[in-house]
Amino acid sequence: MTATFESRKSQAAALSIATQAFIDGQYVDAASGATFDCISPIDGRVLGQVADCGQADIDKAVRAARRSFEAGHWAQTAPTHRKKVLQRFAELVNAHVDELALLESLDMGKPVDDALGYDVPATARCLAWTGEAIDKVYGEVAATGPGELGLITREPLGVVAAIVPWNFPLVMAAWKIAPALAMGNSVVLKPSEKSPLSALRLAALAMEAGIPPGVFNVVPGFGKTAGEPLALHMDVDGLVFTGSTAVGKRLLQCAGLSNMKRAYMECGGKSPNIVFADAPDLDKAAQVAASAIFYNQGQVCTAASRLLVEESIHAQFVERVVAAGRKLQPQHPFTPGAAMGAMVDAGQVERVMGYIAKGQQEGARLVLGGRQASVVEGGCYIEPTIFDGVQHGQTISREEIFGPVLSVIGFSDEAQAIRFANDSEYGLAAAVWTGDIARAHRVTRKLRAGSVWVNYWDGGDMTAPFGGYKQSGNGRDKSLHAFDKYTELKATWINLEG
Ligand code: NAD
Repeated sequence: MTATFESRKSQAAALSIATQAFIDGQYVDAASGATFDCISPIDGRVLGQVADCGQADIDKAVRAARRSFEAGHWAQTAPTHRKKVLQRFAELVNAHVDELALLESLDMGKPVDDALGYDVPATARCLAWTGEAIDKVYGEVAATGPGELGLITREPLGVVAAIVPWNFPLVMAAWKIAPALAMGNSVVLKPSEKSPLSALRLAALAMEAGIPPGVFNVVPGFGKTAGEPLALHMDVDGLVFTGSTAVGKRLLQCAGLSNMKRAYMECGGKSPNIVFADAPDLDKAAQVAASAIFYNQGQVCTAASRLLVEESIHAQFVERVVAAGRKLQPQHPFTPGAAMGAMVDAGQVERVMGYIAKGQQEGARLVLGGRQASVVEGGCYIEPTIFDGVQHGQTISREEIFGPVLSVIGFSDEAQAIRFANDSEYGLAAAVWTGDIARAHRVTRKLRAGSVWVNYWDGGDMTAPFGGYKQSGNGRDKSLHAFDKYTELKATWINLEG
């Protein structure tokens, strides 16, 4: 049956929402009994009171994770066993696609269609792909002389803490927990206080799939009161994070201030989308320039937030981008086909509107949007917004806005385009549009970014690593390279000479 706005509303009303923490295989209240309101940005409605975890809950979750790790109920199982469990986990995620997509949409405001089309299937694929890889990870034998044998093996870190953001709550969690669990670690996951619901539901699905109690714990709560105690915990062996650069830097300090836990940060971006006059299909380039900034209301780490356009096509190209962007207006996220939904919360609306005001003050030309949209009373919506004539170096061309705001910057030649693109504290993603194959290779080689695309945006899959250069982070999620973050390498030497 095709979903309608009304059918989604009634499905959402019938959802039973887990709000307690999940520790040692059980849903439990925070030790203090404290809760916080979980508010939907769609209409400002309170969805539930979520356990507000603090130090005592973190200690309890880390103890449960340590106990389960030492007991070996998961860490010491055969890789084929962990593979089956992760695959079953993936099947369960797929089987609950409607429920998870609605939770995601209610909690952080994205269109249900986006959650159905990307978030939930990508979560399941991450679990399944990673599960499938478990029994293909081999050790090595060192190139020694005849009198000794050198074995190089991977071992799990132990207890891994994962702290994740709200823009893709399930997917960001999956990119961490799948490789962590695959390698035999026990995990404590702290979802964002702005989007805890899908992670709490995921915990029950993990148990149902066969992940033993204590191996996967979820502790909802705030950054300072739940995140920092995890990051500073002396019994956490690995800390993996996705979120802002400011918090990522703080977490690197926490690792140094405590037990030197392994620490990997996936952080912000201000990604350049470079369009040369010789791009093969300028219409397509314009459509993509718009969708690559307005998707998920611009709340994407790889959002194409800087559009660098060659001066000879600047005016006509921007017209096409504006025309494409105008079609992507926010709607109630349950509306079938909605291109944009709600911003995550009122604070994010305020932040983005502040940047829009700043752009105008600094003299950039507003050519689309720029206002809040009244889609649903009490909700958080912003129009797709485009500034033209932005000077490289202005605030809106430098800082990560994390909202539906595009800065268009002109360039005169290839060297200037590369200079503008790389002159950023970030280095997460970049694209180049050109019909000249030599230029495509020249430019992609020079771009200082972890993902670089030619004549499209946002290519990527579980098969390739994802992560940033510079202050966009360290380490990589996805692909076999992700396993490096969740394992120690051990060298074992055996004397063969008696
Ligand atoms: P954020 O840094 O504010 O929060 C991320 C997580 O960290 C949340 O769970 C939060 O509670 C926690 N946290 C906050 N302060 C903390 C502290 N002092 N100690 C421990 N934990 C703390 O980021 P956000 O607003 O949730 O997400 C948006 C940011 O995430 C953007 O900068 C975006 O670019 C980035 N992001 C990066 C990627 C990537 O893969 N590189 C992917 C998605 C989002």
